[in-house]
Amino acid sequence: MAKLYFRYGAMNSGKSTALLQAAYNYEERGHQVLLAKPAIDSKGEASIISRLGVTRAVDFTIAPDEVVTEAFMRERTRVIAATGSDVSCLLIDEAQFLSEEQVDDLLRIAIEEDVPVLAYGIRTDFQTIAFPGSRRLLEIAHSLEELKTICRCGRKAIFNARKVDGRFVFDGDQVAIEQGEVVYESLCGQCYLEESGGAFNRGWRPRLDFSYGSGPDSDFS
Ligand SMILES: [Zn+2]
Repeated sequence: MAKLYFRYGAMNSGKSTALLQAAYNYEERGHQVLLAKPAIDSKGEASIISRLGVTRAVDFTIAPDEVVTEAFMRERTRVIAATGSDVSCLLIDEAQFLSEEQVDDLLRIAIEEDVPVLAYGIRTDFQTIAFPGSRRLLEIAHSLEELKTICRCGRKAIFNARKVDGRFVFDGDQVAIEQGEVVYESLCGQCYLEESGGAFNRGWRPRLDFSYGSGPDSDFS
């Protein structure tokens, strides 16, 4: 049975480069691959752009309400008709922007179609909250692999701080819609706290209540 892999990292951890390298490794051995990304990401239109300058068009984009299994089967049929061989791997860039249902589709493709799915994405947003697609991937992927990058201080970076016109901002929407130049800097926990004034989770997410009942009827006491 094929597996669903989630390879996650902070911004600038080389996810797109790793994806393109994985695609190349398959194709070097004569295999067919499919590359896809959510349509919400407009950074490179319908291309995957690595920081090292390599760019490659995706085979298909995934609209916000699209059923990924159907899109995959359509593209798979096209590949088989064109090349006479089946798809060996599905590679997804910017997987954090998928919906939870679409991530479930990725798991179905791995299990039911026996095609490995390699999903690359960012774990958390600029307020340290998981993107919905990333949260679902952390829950159900067969394999998790962290792609590492370095903070300005030399520690491992795990967060993505947002800068607008050169200044750190810690309030706003999960996907930036501010006016001005928006960039992200990968920071370690310590540097993130210094810049944010000591706060994690300035976003909307309420705290989960794990205080199991303490009365005589509690199942957990
Ligand atoms: Zn740091």
